[in-house]
Amino acid sequence: MVSRVIPVDPFDLVIFGGTGDLARRKILPGLYRRFHDGQMPEGARIIGAARSEMDEAGYRDFVRGAIGEFVQKRNDKDIVDAFLERLTYVAVDAKGTDGWDELAHAMRPDVIKAYYFSVGPSLFGDIAERLMNHGIADDEARIVVEKPFGHDLASARALNETLARHFDETQIYRIDHYLGKETVQNLMAVRFGNMLFEPLWNAQYVDHIQITVAETVGVGGRGDYYDKSGAMRDMVQNHLMQLLCLTAMEPPSKYDPDAVRDEKLKVIRALESVESDDIVRGQYKSQAESYIDDVENPRSITESYVAMKVRIANWRWNGTPFYLRTGKRMKERVSEIVVRFKEPPHSIFEEDTGQSANELTIRLQPNEGMDLTVTIKEPGPGGMRLIDVPLDMTFAEALGEEAADVPDAYERLIMDVIRGNQTLFMRGDEVEAAWAWTDPIIDSWTVREDRPHPYEPGSTGPEEALILMHRDGRRWRELRT
Ligand code: NAP
Repeated sequence: MVSRVIPVDPFDLVIFGGTGDLARRKILPGLYRRFHDGQMPEGARIIGAARSEMDEAGYRDFVRGAIGEFVQKRNDKDIVDAFLERLTYVAVDAKGTDGWDELAHAMRPDVIKAYYFSVGPSLFGDIAERLMNHGIADDEARIVVEKPFGHDLASARALNETLARHFDETQIYRIDHYLGKETVQNLMAVRFGNMLFEPLWNAQYVDHIQITVAETVGVGGRGDYYDKSGAMRDMVQNHLMQLLCLTAMEPPSKYDPDAVRDEKLKVIRALESVESDDIVRGQYKSQAESYIDDVENPRSITESYVAMKVRIANWRWNGTPFYLRTGKRMKERVSEIVVRFKEPPHSIFEEDTGQSANELTIRLQPNEGMDLTVTIKEPGPGGMRLIDVPLDMTFAEALGEEAADVPDAYERLIMDVIRGNQTLFMRGDEVEAAWAWTDPIIDSWTVREDRPHPYEPGSTGPEEALILMHRDGRRWRELRT
């Protein structure tokens, strides 16, 4: 089964921060893959922009290196050469005057103009202002802004106001790459494209929902940034919040950017504030490896792990808790949503026949796909014994390797920017509502000087997080190595 590739309209895409880590690892390799698959029309051009002095040939060499390093399949020399023909570079200082006339000169009229702000947020306002002053952002122009979108509600509001001075909300694409993942969109397809799940998708039938985003890596080279942020700001406020919204939201009236985002916003606004004993913070620590060494801050009390019980105060979810957890240096790298249904109200089978509750697992990584456990009779002559079997819908198995070779989140989202489709991007009010819920939690830690619980690197997190579930008679889905 081969997926259809529909080319987008001609565009000029400027990547501010075109020499940075994100551009090298994700944006440029992703654009190459879209070119390889025939999604870029003749008139598509990419312009790298950063302060470093570099000529066009130098930038093309840089991009060739990035493709060599980060594109596994499709690495075909002739196609890479043809892709590089689409690239140019302009040295631009976002805060000064250098390079702006040259950039304005390089932009073509009559094509879609997209500006990817792959730079620190402190430069967003400067770039937006200069784009306007140089007349290179028309009403159709789009800007893409990277996370983190603010550090708290006040800074997110300030950032929204800065961008709103120059651009309409319909032109602003706040990226959360989790929303570009195939399975995240499939979550909507499964929920709203089938009759099977939605009637059961509520507190009457769902016991609880778990959302896990676990990483095996530590803070790596991002220690300085991460220590000022922590798991709550870095992961919960954005990625886990988005997964929570898509899992919990009401069906939108149509698959349209504002209809979807209105429903997500309602979920965030219905979140109850979280009691302090419903949250566990952790920090990885052992003799050999510890968070405080990685961030070079021996007094750090920033969390590298957080687990929490969250309640949504609305008709659909009253009584069904959502358990969220995320952490670094954990046992398994996995992102998944587990919907645990209630047990049947009455069992016709004898006790200890092995009956248990159904579980739907939506895996974002690795092996994107879904898995539903159903109870059946154990085959054989041994009487009525029940076992759980998985109905595995791993995309690679169900659709064949080719169809499972789906675009990476970044490349899909960039194509959505060119198409002018904001459905998978966060709206300003959504981001602010997420911070409004997150801020009091973080503030209470600051006031109490709350110290995270230590956990062994490579483990499932602190003991206290297990207790958070045990106390409710529930268990986290096991992490595997
Ligand atoms: P980075 O590696 O530090 O790159 C920053 C880029 O910005 C470089 O190309 C740099 O080039 C350019 N730059 C800096 N100051 C500039 C100025 N005054 N004018 C023009 N260009 C300037 O950062 P990054 O990791 O790519 O991250 C970029 C953004 O994406 C950040 O907001 C980050 O939080 C976000 N993000 C990154 C990742 C990731 O995996 N890396 C993931 C999620 C979000 P010059 O020094 O030559 O100017």
